[in-house]
Amino acid sequence: MDIPSSFTEIKQQINHGQLNLIDLCQSFINRIESSKTNAFVEIFKDESLKRAALINEKINLKKQGLLAGMIIGVKDNICFANHNVTASSKILSGFESIFSATAIQRLLDEDAIIIGRLNCDEFAMGSSNENSTYGPVRHHIDHEKVPGGSSGGSAVAVAEGLCTASLGSDTGGSIRQPASFCGVVGMKPSYGRISRYGLLAYASSFDQIGVFTNNVEDACLLTHVMSGKDDYDSTLSHVKSHTSSVKSLDKKLAIGVPEDYLNFNNLDPEIKQKTEEIIDKLRLSGHKINLLSFPFVKHLVPCYYVLTTAEASSNLARYDGAHYGYRSDEANDIDSTYELTRSEGFGLEVKRRIMLGNFVLSSGYYDAYFTKAQKVRRLIKEKTDEMLKENDVLLFPTTPSTAFNIGEINDPIKMYLQDIFTVHANIAGVPAISLPLGSHSNKLPFGIQLMGRSFDEDSLYSIAESLMQL
Ligand code: GLN
Repeated sequence: MDIPSSFTEIKQQINHGQLNLIDLCQSFINRIESSKTNAFVEIFKDESLKRAALINEKINLKKQGLLAGMIIGVKDNICFANHNVTASSKILSGFESIFSATAIQRLLDEDAIIIGRLNCDEFAMGSSNENSTYGPVRHHIDHEKVPGGSSGGSAVAVAEGLCTASLGSDTGGSIRQPASFCGVVGMKPSYGRISRYGLLAYASSFDQIGVFTNNVEDACLLTHVMSGKDDYDSTLSHVKSHTSSVKSLDKKLAIGVPEDYLNFNNLDPEIKQKTEEIIDKLRLSGHKINLLSFPFVKHLVPCYYVLTTAEASSNLARYDGAHYGYRSDEANDIDSTYELTRSEGFGLEVKRRIMLGNFVLSSGYYDAYFTKAQKVRRLIKEKTDEMLKENDVLLFPTTPSTAFNIGEINDPIKMYLQDIFTVHANIAGVPAISLPLGSHSNKLPFGIQLMGRSFDEDSLYSIAESLMQL
């Protein structure tokens, strides 16, 4: 069955009686079952079909919610009541959530269908989706390549047409980087826009739920539905949510381009060239381009890794063999329960980060690393706000390269540098979107990133949409 890629079209076909929700759901299930990318780790088959029948009835009575016909896959670190959630970690094997994340509940309340759970890097730590207890996710175009990470399953699911949209989480680029590698739209809203209640915590002052879609309009609608005040997340903004559909751009923009990013020495020349072409086009259509200097490029990744590992070491302390999921068979007292469960249950990268986090928080090093990194974060935030005061948006590539081979990057530092262009938005807490505007001569896609002002997703979406039209 031919499935339209945009939700607007799906809705139209449903409303005109050309598309039946049960058939739509069944077609996605068939596609997932025959896919070889390992994006889905579980399909909620019977329940999706049952829900489709129920929503069909609502459609007939014209009583359906905003998302009737929207079929969504969810990253395996977001809780859905009475479903397993494992963050792709052995330590959570068999764990079932007793409640739904606020984000999930709001989608369900508008009649979306959650079709299954998506593979990711363990506890969202990674840039290639190779750190998963379920095995790596494969790029849909070339199965020898990675899809990016940590939300690799979510990116491939949308790119391969296994669902209309998916949820991911973005702590340092985990939505935008795989969106860039896979050629889809990936949106990380402002920190505090979408409730983190029910998102398995990695680094709480950075984590943010966001979406993968085939177009800007769908991303806008979904983040609109999920956003807004929630009593379960006190960091959530009370600022009014953005609109449900993209407003058209009504003015010429000031667009900031941090030159330091374009001159980054490991930036692929074709990605650089394409970014410059886009900048020229924007200039020709009357927008003002401001070349900026951003002096903190080399501090971004270290600042991110000191702070996120510190937060992770604390957040992951709860997996102790007593409360959730896995417990070592060999454990026979309290110490061995902690030690063996955690040694056997966590993967290598997660252990590395827990140890690093404990180190930067330890009494002799706290000020030298943790406090210092917090000060650096503040400087980056202030500089970013200053750049965004004079510019409506900042534009630069999402990733320094296109997708690399599975197994190609073994050095953790090299892997961490994959995030060089994405951690900035999380450190500063601002919204950022990756748009699938690039196609490389190696036949792989890449993204262009727009970073906007905190809680001004409205502008970010309209600028993104006009850039897509351009
Ligand atoms: N790749 C980054 C990391 O490994 C970002 C992860 C994320 O955003 N969850 O931490």
